[in-house]
Amino acid sequence: MKIGIVGLGLIGGSLAYDFRALGYKVLGVSRQPQTCEDAVKLGAVDTASADLASLASVDVVFICTPVSVIDAIATRLIPYLSPEAILTDVGSVKGPVVKRVTPLWPRFLGGHPMAGREVTGIQAAQSHLFAQNPYILTPTTKTPLDVIDVMRKLVGELDGDLYECSPGIHDRAVAWISHLPKMVSAALIAACVSDADPDIVQLAQAFASSGFRDTSRVGGGDPELGCMMAQYNREELLRSLYQYRQSLDQLTDIIECSDWSALDALLQQTQAERPKFL
Ligand code: NAP
Repeated sequence: MKIGIVGLGLIGGSLAYDFRALGYKVLGVSRQPQTCEDAVKLGAVDTASADLASLASVDVVFICTPVSVIDAIATRLIPYLSPEAILTDVGSVKGPVVKRVTPLWPRFLGGHPMAGREVTGIQAAQSHLFAQNPYILTPTTKTPLDVIDVMRKLVGELDGDLYECSPGIHDRAVAWISHLPKMVSAALIAACVSDADPDIVQLAQAFASSGFRDTSRVGGGDPELGCMMAQYNREELLRSLYQYRQSLDQLTDIIECSDWSALDALLQQTQAERPKFL
């Protein structure tokens, strides 16, 4: 089987390493000639070029570009695909991508590997990135069964933990554990620098240590990623933000009332809940 990867960055490059190691021929396509050159030199792909026509002979294509361009790339790629080719993507939001790409290519199945790193680009790609991490497939009622079977097999070969759900359910669940935390962490940093006394802000910055490192990490990350989450998963993100505002109000009320037993009960509950997420 031949595999095509469009977008040789962190996720595309990491998929390429694993599929090559599994014995598949991997053909890469990326926008910048330098990225293509690096991907070949690093041994991530067998060949790479900027030309989507080079994927005419592949059996499965993974689109691994930013979410904002997945449908445009699918549109440009489809004229070159063989009729049996399977198309998938790795975008972190599924609803809008599946809605736009499925009518273009019925043999499309959305996917989302829940694995990543702080750094991006082909140099950050690594083998076994997906092993023991959730890999979500989002079939619709119209997705051909053989397409689902092939994708299940590939996820299994990556050693990913396979989950299947609708695109909408995916986006709702991911809002809670990825998109809401990005906004909450950003709001935390914004609040910390809003103290009216600049000396206090400076001291807080000097005192910040491991706790602040953990809680501010995603809020201090790539702004483009946060904008993508908000733009493409707006409704689910808003739903989670409204609920989070209620949680904050509840905590504020408890502390205003100096109701320490209620606070203790709430913190006991969150302490017990956290391990279920990680
Ligand atoms: P990345 O390392 O920046 O790689 C993105 C790739 O897409 C690059 O190879 C780049 O190619 C290409 N690209 C960028 N803008 C493009 C454009 N306008 N047109 C065509 N190609 C373009 O990013 P990534 O972290 O791998 O993310 C890729 C996808 O994976 C995204 O959809 C993201 O939502 C999803 N995802 C990311 C993570 C994560 O933690 N990073 C986890 C799961 C899923 P050139 O280098 O040739 O310009």
